[in-house]
Amino acid sequence: MFYIKPPTGKISFHIIEKCVLDRLEYIQLLYEGKPHEFNGDLEYLLENSVYDKIGHFILRLLASISQELFNYWIVRETLLFQTRLNYILPRQLYRLFKSILHQSEEFKDKKGLINKTLIDICSFFSKPLVFKHIVSKNHTKNCNFLRTKVRYEIVPDLIKKRKLDLNAGYAIVYCSKLKEVLKSLFYTHISKEVICMKSIAQHTLNQDIRLDYLYYKIHSKVFQENQTFIKQGCITKENIDIEVKNFPLCMQHLHIRLRRVHRLSHYARFYYSLFLKDGGMQLEDAINYWKEEYSKPHSCSSNCLHNWKSNERKFMYSIRHFYGLEGSRKNYKSPTCELMCTSSSSTMYEGGCPFKSFDVNTLKHLLSLSLANDHVTNLLKSLSPETPQTSCAKFFKILNQNNSNDIVINSPLQYYLAMIN
Ligand code: SF4
Repeated sequence: MFYIKPPTGKISFHIIEKCVLDRLEYIQLLYEGKPHEFNGDLEYLLENSVYDKIGHFILRLLASISQELFNYWIVRETLLFQTRLNYILPRQLYRLFKSILHQSEEFKDKKGLINKTLIDICSFFSKPLVFKHIVSKNHTKNCNFLRTKVRYEIVPDLIKKRKLDLNAGYAIVYCSKLKEVLKSLFYTHISKEVICMKSIAQHTLNQDIRLDYLYYKIHSKVFQENQTFIKQGCITKENIDIEVKNFPLCMQHLHIRLRRVHRLSHYARFYYSLFLKDGGMQLEDAINYWKEEYSKPHSCSSNCLHNWKSNERKFMYSIRHFYGLEGSRKNYKSPTCELMCTSSSSTMYEGGCPFKSFDVNTLKHLLSLSLANDHVTNLLKSLSPETPQTSCAKFFKILNQNNSNDIVINSPLQYYLAMIN
């Protein structure tokens, strides 16, 4: 359960996938305080089993290329370690020390601070008399009968919470603090390993399409399921022409324009792609949606040279980038109204907020796609380009007359989700 050395051998990819997905589900439920609701296969989580190790090391590999995923995973993984430690039997504890010492023979750098600390702590607590004391009845919750020390910088969380006393650059570890120190070392050890393997992990994922697929799968699972607003979005390539009626005017405009001229300028494409992604469109649908349009000859007035066939790699890379699967693997968020309202400096840019920067005829045309003529006339009279979000909220209210609540529009995505709810 203190993972230092990855297992070797061959295993089917579908088993790897199961080890990873079941582990993720379990640690999330543990984090939420309801591990009893776990519906997966506990076989994949049996402590010290090969499956247990595979689940851990594959997740470590995948998390090492994304800070966001790492932050999510390490908190839950450490909680799993702590839970196991809380229920550990004396003989299992002894085996844990021996296992860490045995695995630590693999350390290339035995004098590195974290490695040396791990060896020192396990050597100390596995000494016959010390071990006998820590599993005896005399050893209470606050026992300070025995003690050792570690460098203070190796257990920063415990120092910060003032859980250990300091003396000349060392943190004093009383026997009652053993589990807390092990937990802290677990976190520090993995964090350090992840930093070391970052570039090699990136290379491995670039070379192995199966791991890349798994990364995408868990990334969407974690970040879409944990953001309830994303969970509700349901845009697909198939339903987009119907779903567009629920989009705010800025995004309706981009969809209509794309369908008409089959091209969008860079920022319009960027913002619209992110809106679709956060609105629930899956990667495969996004690729097919853009491919369909960019495979058609453009009918815009510019000399656009973009074409799916000749730029396929570039387009694929760019869409995957928006989904956090390439380059910095950043999880880009869809734009806010503020960004939409201030991003129209280029003459090529056809996006922006219609309530702020479109001429009255274009705005009128857009409004008339959803509203009857008298509503359009009345609305246009009451609009002000100075307050586009208020205008957008008025438009929303006309479309949702049954909803008496006032709404403040902050982003196209929020508008869309409010529409479909
Ligand atoms: Fe889009 Fe926001 Fe403008 Fe509404 S106010 S049209 S959501 S940018």
